[in-house]
Amino acid sequence: MTPRAKAQKSFGFFILFVESIMKKQTKYIFVVGGVISGVGKGITSSSIGLILKNRGLKLTAIKIDPYINIDAGTMNPTEHGEVFVLKDGDETDQDMGNYERFLDINLTRINYITTGRVYKTVIEKERNLEYKGKCVEVVPHIPLEVIKRIKEAGKNAKADIVIIEIGGTIGEYQNMLFLEAARMMKLSSPKDVVFVMVSYLPTPQKVGEMKTKPTQHAVRTLNASGIQPDILIARGDVNLDKKRKEKISLFCNMPVDRVISAPDVDSIYDIPINFEKEKLSDKLCEILNVVSKKPNVKAWKKWKKFAKYAHNGQKTIKIAMVGKYFETGDFILSDSYLSIIEAIKYSSYAQNKKPILTWLNSSDYEKPAQPNGHSGGNPTKLKELKKYDGIIIPGGFGSRGVEGNLNVVKFARENKIPYLGLCYGMQMMVIEYARNVLGLKDANTKEVNPNSKNLVIDVMESQKEILKNNFYGGSMRLGEYKAILRDNTIAKGAYAQKEIIERHRHRYEVNPAFIGDLEAKGLIFSGRSPDGHLMEIAELPKNRHPFFLGTQFHPEFLARPLSPHPLFTAFIKACCAHLKLNAKEGIKKKK
Ligand code: GLN
Repeated sequence: MTPRAKAQKSFGFFILFVESIMKKQTKYIFVVGGVISGVGKGITSSSIGLILKNRGLKLTAIKIDPYINIDAGTMNPTEHGEVFVLKDGDETDQDMGNYERFLDINLTRINYITTGRVYKTVIEKERNLEYKGKCVEVVPHIPLEVIKRIKEAGKNAKADIVIIEIGGTIGEYQNMLFLEAARMMKLSSPKDVVFVMVSYLPTPQKVGEMKTKPTQHAVRTLNASGIQPDILIARGDVNLDKKRKEKISLFCNMPVDRVISAPDVDSIYDIPINFEKEKLSDKLCEILNVVSKKPNVKAWKKWKKFAKYAHNGQKTIKIAMVGKYFETGDFILSDSYLSIIEAIKYSSYAQNKKPILTWLNSSDYEKPAQPNGHSGGNPTKLKELKKYDGIIIPGGFGSRGVEGNLNVVKFARENKIPYLGLCYGMQMMVIEYARNVLGLKDANTKEVNPNSKNLVIDVMESQKEILKNNFYGGSMRLGEYKAILRDNTIAKGAYAQKEIIERHRHRYEVNPAFIGDLEAKGLIFSGRSPDGHLMEIAELPKNRHPFFLGTQFHPEFLARPLSPHPLFTAFIKACCAHLKLNAKEGIKKKK
């Protein structure tokens, strides 16, 4: 070859190289679940996201919920778990919270897909003649709309990798069209699409041996949809041994090193660390042919340090969560309050404390109604609250448990137990204060008793028309709003800034007509909307109570593992101080 030809050739390679960088191809990782629901697809997706982000890649995540509901907002939390609110107000599945927390990103409604959303769009397009006279059919038009949304989410985020978690379990009717969309994507671009199956390997007690058969069946069922998993995450009580890895490899048609053992762990934050022990990020990069950087050692160290806190060895603080959305049959399911639990953990770990949460049913703090219609409280039960270092009343709807909540708030206020009220919990604070300090005995929220003469919590003006027309879905005050903080308050001290942005989900608000009287009696509204009309934070001054604070918004949605939420941190600090005080008093009593 002449020197000129040589130069031309190497220049050609250079152009190809530059072109390949310029045309950066987005890659897609589909995560599907086998055998049983609740197998940990959400945490697996989040953990995969984290280990890839740690390799210098840009990630976004999508949750597909295969139900007809447009969003999760109209579902009962005991049915569905927590409703996680995004910055743009979308009411979504709790897994979206896991993605935001693990990946430390903010997602928007494009990242949340439901069957209802997809069908609604397709039907609207058909009505608008966008299919140009074609017969619109379930296949291919529904999967094509799904693909469009997935690609849009990737483009919006300028992502190198999009993780798509398909809800439900393999073999259900509900998620078939989503699997079909995934299959079509793989067909059109085989090198850019990976399938991860999260499956469950039971160890029946009587048999005493881990069984691979259900997983084999699940993989075959997935095969019937035209999909072969590239990676299998084998969930089980214990580690998968070599023999079972080989069995799965043989019968599920995949190299043995693509079978990843994922035993139960005490803390979900260990999962990315365990995945990396199995070199999962290397394997994914290899399959997807993406050039990843070396692991970001600093970020990884921080994560490991944080994950360590979840384990024993630190002092504990006892926190009571008083609510109503955790009973399902004979089980207690704390899923409805997932973001709050995580927010508590982050702030506690940062104080080198381990939180012990106790679930208390608000109805247990009610007594049969008195003549005025109010409950007198259950004195023995209430006294038991003294053993906690802090009490939280989370968000809620409707009248069940409200009287119990009010008794709990009164007890916390009078006994100076740190109290954090979140949304409904803040409204409870205001009602309790109005009843017991202002003497407005029938004070209430319109949501519970529209006939009360003292509606200290009233429906927001903007909501009246909505409620009249029964437009319930997606119509609350939702998503991010600004608030301005007042100087010399607990709130301002915690945030250490004047202006904050927090996520909301409510229809009712503090009635402006009562603000003057409430403040005159000592309650401070330390956070307000920029126009001053909406009360966003209520608190008592520190000289009257160590920590008695409620927020109309949901701070829990912004808590992240490595950046705990300032209000939760302030609350936890108050709990620690309460713990110390109790310990001192305990010593005094003994003496
Ligand atoms: N039910 C109350 C309202 O709609 C509080 C809502 C909540 O706690 N998220 O205003």
